[in-house]
Amino acid sequence: MTAGVDWLEVGDRVFTRRYRFYDQQIGVVLGDGEALVIDTRTTPGHARELIADIARLTPFQVRQVVDTHWHADHVFGNHDFRPATIWGQERCRSRLLENGERQRAKLVSSLPDLADDLASLVIDPPDRTFAETAALQVGGRRVELSFIGRGHTDADIVIVVPDTDVLFAGDLLENDAVPFFGAGYPLEWPATVERLLALVSGPVVPGHGSIGDRAFVERQLGEFEAVVAAARRLHAGEIDRTEALAAMPYEPASSIEPLDRALAQLRGELD
Ligand SMILES: [Zn+2]
Repeated sequence: MTAGVDWLEVGDRVFTRRYRFYDQQIGVVLGDGEALVIDTRTTPGHARELIADIARLTPFQVRQVVDTHWHADHVFGNHDFRPATIWGQERCRSRLLENGERQRAKLVSSLPDLADDLASLVIDPPDRTFAETAALQVGGRRVELSFIGRGHTDADIVIVVPDTDVLFAGDLLENDAVPFFGAGYPLEWPATVERLLALVSGPVVPGHGSIGDRAFVERQLGEFEAVVAAARRLHAGEIDRTEALAAMPYEPASSIEPLDRALAQLRGELD
């Protein structure tokens, strides 16, 4: 599937739409008379576009939103979905309250074309939070949210619709690009993805890039393990930095941030 095409039904009344902007996957779950959306995109303008796209998919109102984590591209559209209830892990809320304005400023400087759109943004964190698990009802359908450990951030959750075999992985998994490590916990990421793997029984929807399967998750797990191995050997003085970068599973230019983040965690700087 290529980016920018229409909604794809990945399970019974479970849809994804892949947006060109940041190559992002957005999910929709339809129940009896209501809809749930998974992630809300980067700006109010993006959120309005998403709302219009959902209106072409279903006449049902979005009554509930799930934020997979606190990164701007997953939560900055939240306010446009009110009065919907917004679900997220407890640190999704606290981090967004603490760093939302910093995220906005960073986006404005890197994407000046979106400055006006971002200026109108109301940062609106989840109001229904949980530490480990939550189960919600979408028009009679159960949807399960789980925090299974730190990885891409300290607040990533996975979403399962138990009457289908679809798993939404948020940015714990990204396809067709190097995952973003800048706010990550590389040493814990492999164990988190192992727990995720135990939940896989069908399509796996990453936060960005094409939809995958069990083999995709296993491949990503192997790469996360290789990042940790390279960082540990460098940290222990067994190899030098050039050798560590060569041992990374990504091309050299994309390996610096993952390696340095893993080293920072090995030095105890991230806790
Ligand atoms: Zn992210």
